[in-house]
Amino acid sequence: MKKYFIDPRLEWHKANMHTHTNLSDGYFSPEEMKKVYMEHGYSIVCFTDHEVIFDNSYLTDDKFVAITGKEHSITQYVDEDGNPLKWRDMKTVHLNFFAKDPHNLQHVCMDYDRASEKQRQQFKERHGFDIPVDHYHGEFSQETLQNIINKANSAGFLVQFNHPNWSLNTREDYINLKGLWGFEIYNYLTDLETGAEYCPNIYDDMLRHGHRLFCTMGDDNHNYQGSLEGSFGGFTYIGVPKLTYENVIKALENGCFYCSMGPVIKSMYYDSDDKKIHIECSEAEDIVLVGYNRHFLHVYGENLTHAEFDINGEEVYVRISIKDKNNRWANTNPIYIEEIKEDSYE
Ligand SMILES: [Zn+2]
Ligand SMILES: [Zn+2]
Repeated sequence: MKKYFIDPRLEWHKANMHTHTNLSDGYFSPEEMKKVYMEHGYSIVCFTDHEVIFDNSYLTDDKFVAITGKEHSITQYVDEDGNPLKWRDMKTVHLNFFAKDPHNLQHVCMDYDRASEKQRQQFKERHGFDIPVDHYHGEFSQETLQNIINKANSAGFLVQFNHPNWSLNTREDYINLKGLWGFEIYNYLTDLETGAEYCPNIYDDMLRHGHRLFCTMGDDNHNYQGSLEGSFGGFTYIGVPKLTYENVIKALENGCFYCSMGPVIKSMYYDSDDKKIHIECSEAEDIVLVGYNRHFLHVYGENLTHAEFDINGEEVYVRISIKDKNNRWANTNPIYIEEIKEDSYE
C-alpha cells in the first residue's frame, strides 16, 4: 500500500514565496509581477512587501493565485551598552507572514513609522483607510520575536523565518522560537549577495531541536531597474486538487509542497509492502535521505530519476534532498515516521 507525500495526481503549481513590488522597494507593480512570473511558468506569487500588507487578491483568477502577505523585520539598532550600531553590524530577523484569508489586513506589532510615507498613501488609495496599527515597539530580543510570532499566528498568518545568513543570525536567534510555520532554506537574492544562503544546516538544527516546520525557497526579487536577474532562482512547488487561494493555503498548512533551485520531484511515496520511500525526479546526481542527527543515505549516479530508501522506523523523520549536475538542490518537507505507520493511512 502506497502513501503519497508528493502525489502526481494533484496539480503542481510553481510559486514564488518571497516577492517585493513597488508597494515597497521593488520595481514592478503587482500586476506586472503577475505577468512576468506567469510568463515564466509560475501560477502562485506570495506578495511579501516590507512591513505593509496589501490585499493583492484581485489578481487571483483560475490560473493564478496572489497570496496576501508581508515581510516583517525586527532589527538590532544598538549594542548591549546602548551604542548605535553601523548597518554592517546590525543583526536582524525577517519574517514572512502569509495570510490564510486573502483579505486579512491586520497589522500586528506595527506602528506608523514602520511604513514609508509612500506606503501609507498607497495603502489609503488602495483600501480607503489608514494602515491599522497597534502602536507596538519592541527591541531586538527573543521576547519581542516570540511575541510577534504569537500575535501573527493568532491573527491568521503562517510565519516563515527568512535568510538567516544575510541577517547575521546565530543559533540563539532562532533555536528557541516557537510557532514558526516555515524556514526559508534558500533565498536567491541574498544568495547572490552573500554566496551562502543555502542553509540546510540551520534547518536541520531546528528539526533536530524538535521544531516542526516546513522549508521553502523564494526569490526575494526586487527587480531593480526592471532587471529579471534576481528572479526565478528559488521556487516552491505546491500540490492542490484545483488552483484556489483556499487550496494553496491548505497545502501550505499540510506541507503538501517541496522547494527547488531546479530539480523537479514527480512523486514521493512510502510503500508499506517493501517499507521503502520511493522518489521520482528530473535528472539528478545525488539523492539524499536525511534523517534525525547523523542519519544520511545517498544514491549517487548520472542522470538518476529514481531512488528508494529503506525505512527502519528509527529515523524520527526523513526528508529528501536532490542535487542536479549544476549543483542545484531540491528539498522535500520532513516526513515523521509516525505519519507512515499503517494506522495513519486514509
Ligand atoms: Zn528580508
Ligand atoms: Zn525580502
